[in-house]
Amino acid sequence: MRDRGWACVGRPSWLVLLLGALAGLGSSVGSSRAAEADCPGHPNALGTSRTLVVDPHEHPRLGAMQYKETLPLRDHEVVLTFDDGPLPKYSNQILKILADQCVKATFFTIGRQAKADPEGVRKLAAAGHTIGTHSQNHPLSFNRMTPDQVKPEVDQGIAWTTAALTDPSALSPFFRVPGLLRGDAVESYAASLGLQLWSADFLADDWRSISGAKVHELAIKRLEARGKGILLLHDIQARTVAALPKILAELKAKNYRIVHVVAATPDRPATPTEPEDWLVHRPSDETPIARWPAITPTDLSGADTNARAALDDFGHLEVPPAPSRTVLKPAWPRPAITSRIANAPRSKASSSLAKDSLAKASSIAKAPALPAPSGDLFAWPPAAPLSAQRRQVARAEGPPAKQAARPVRLASLRKR
Ligand SMILES: [Zn+2]
Repeated sequence: MRDRGWACVGRPSWLVLLLGALAGLGSSVGSSRAAEADCPGHPNALGTSRTLVVDPHEHPRLGAMQYKETLPLRDHEVVLTFDDGPLPKYSNQILKILADQCVKATFFTIGRQAKADPEGVRKLAAAGHTIGTHSQNHPLSFNRMTPDQVKPEVDQGIAWTTAALTDPSALSPFFRVPGLLRGDAVESYAASLGLQLWSADFLADDWRSISGAKVHELAIKRLEARGKGILLLHDIQARTVAALPKILAELKAKNYRIVHVVAATPDRPATPTEPEDWLVHRPSDETPIARWPAITPTDLSGADTNARAALDDFGHLEVPPAPSRTVLKPAWPRPAITSRIANAPRSKASSSLAKDSLAKASSIAKAPALPAPSGDLFAWPPAAPLSAQRRQVARAEGPPAKQAARPVRLASLRKR
């Protein structure tokens, strides 16, 4: 009857429009009031729309760039992540920008940075952000490391970050591999500690020699291509500080919503989700695999040649030889191993070798992750001499001072 009644009205549905407008006005006023209540002094803040509680044991690896699972976000939901800090000069500005918008993010700290600036780690906790870790020294070699090499890098990063915190439980069991250079050793070790490995859904290239405007443009362009996701940024870059207010303003203008991610604890159960909510590609999708975003030469059009990104922007001290400046071809994705071998000319001598390689390649192809990226991806543009501050940190860095660090509370991480 109701449907028929609407159909029989037959006149311009001005009443509907009026009611809709009033409802819209009401909800707009309501949301504005809610934002004001949520973010005192900043009535037009972007705000944080919800908190997502995740269980690392149920979902040990995530991020569409490398894994088959990512955070179960709804359309237009965004998770902000910042790596490589704390570095007071820029991290403090990032914190202020986020506070002005009442936005909660996840920070992946480097142990060495936490040791140099423990106050910076406490500021993250005081502001209510999620804190994960990002190794002790940020070596860009996790894809080649043995288990014995992985362990101290992961452990010390956790130990120095924990030591900086007033409340050690403020550290979340989240870990991001430097340079996203995933490998079996780090994945196994992280799983044994109950750590959740975070890759990302998209980047904004804020470690490259590009302008803040370009960082903003890339962040929004890549977000719109996905419609939602985990954005990887760095809180140690001037261009990120420059870009962030514009990124947040545009997120608000385009009705994106910020999600704050925290780890489940005995007192805080995981947000109910369905297993398929975590899949990067639903079973019905035809696209078989995520792809790395290509860095095209045109992306350099807005490059700021004065603001030169250095290798140590990523916090590692082992500076490899400088790659050629003329090579603009992205390091990722690498050619598929299977097709390379399948297309190679075969001889009798090489047939058994090729067979073994093909079997190996086949097993790699079936693996639930993309291959580790070349270190070059995060090590471009070419190496620069270490900054004075890095040298200072490097000098201050002796062998791990066991007595200075608080005990590693890995046991408490396992429980969560
Ligand atoms: Zn990093």
